[in-house]
Amino acid sequence: MKVLVINCGSSSLKYQLIDMDGEKVLCKGLCERIGMESSMITHEANGHKATTPAIFPTHTEAFAEVVKKMTTGEGKCINDVSEIDAIGHRVVHGGEKFKESCLITDEVIETIRELSPLAPLHNPAGILGIEAARKVFGNIPMVAVFDTAFHSTMPPKAYMYAIPYEYYEKYGVRRYGFHGTSHRYVSGRMAELLGEMPHRLITCHLGNGSSLAAIKDGKVVDTSMGFTPLDGIIMGTRCGSIDPSIVSYIANLENLHERGMNRLLNNESGLLGVSGVSSDFRDVLEEAENGNERAQLAADMLEYQLVKLIGSYAAALGGVDAILFTGGIGENAMGLREQVMHDLAYLGVTADLAANNSRGEEVRISGADSKVEVWVVPTNEEIMIARDTAELIK
Ligand code: ADP
Repeated sequence: MKVLVINCGSSSLKYQLIDMDGEKVLCKGLCERIGMESSMITHEANGHKATTPAIFPTHTEAFAEVVKKMTTGEGKCINDVSEIDAIGHRVVHGGEKFKESCLITDEVIETIRELSPLAPLHNPAGILGIEAARKVFGNIPMVAVFDTAFHSTMPPKAYMYAIPYEYYEKYGVRRYGFHGTSHRYVSGRMAELLGEMPHRLITCHLGNGSSLAAIKDGKVVDTSMGFTPLDGIIMGTRCGSIDPSIVSYIANLENLHERGMNRLLNNESGLLGVSGVSSDFRDVLEEAENGNERAQLAADMLEYQLVKLIGSYAAALGGVDAILFTGGIGENAMGLREQVMHDLAYLGVTADLAANNSRGEEVRISGADSKVEVWVVPTNEEIMIARDTAELIK
């Protein structure tokens, strides 16, 4: 069975075609600048990768080009589009409606649309992708996989905010959590690697966006992203948790309204805002090495917040048996992992520094005598989406 995995942004379309027989990636790529001037497509197959200019007024033209790349030329990996059995779409917000992945029907699309106020940038982009795929691929079965779904097991005491209850009832204001597909993949992989699901597990997904999850017997009991992906730990350009009063305080002084404040907190904060250098952790580390104090501060804040959150999740779980790192930072930033393990010595964590000296590999980085297993597990959201899709269309 061949499954096409789709992740749509408002002006982008990421894709991966996976042969479920052996879970082999046949091709992958990215369409960029959809609806803008100078659109382009990067397509990779058969060890061959190329970026070419294209004209993408909408996602529909982008899908048509993806089909062309998959069926012709050097990037060809199938003879005909009819070889694709199903499409799996990443959808950011499933609200309280979707607790797991589901087959896409007109009703499902309508519900995703109704949830758009909760994810005004992401859900409409997801719908664009679903509707464009329908136009290009016809009646092929499609599945929606939600970023929020894995966190739906959180109890009310973890997901409620202490504001008047009516705002939960009227507007759905609560913690939902995101990156669920990643936390689900890596926790499942952890269970495979250890032979059983750890009783108390903390997963740290650290990338441009970052979130932690506290997982008890395979079920999420708390997570750091909240009502939106802005909450939690310091990220590339997002502030993470701050005192909510800061919002009205700065808004008044700077005469900023909703859009301006959203931009400040989502796009101008985090590692970028503190360091003044970059949202990219590699750049921040490099500048810190060169003696830039604000870059060092941003890196220190990430490490400190990570240790603090892990400690609070260890408390929520009544202890911790395993901790794992994933995402671009989690998989690659060896120095950060070493420091975190050092600071978690009070939990009985010891480090295997030789093992920690690796990037992007599945490896145990805690010492043989460590009371807590600490691992790096590279994430693979696409395979999770493909598996759900294959399972649901069976
Ligand atoms: P996204 O959340 O967009 O999927 P990624 O998971 O790819 O992002 O993570 C991107 C982050 O990973 C960037 O901040 C980048 O600097 C960081 N990163 C990648 N490689 C390294 C490295 N070798 N050392 C430190 N950070 C790294």
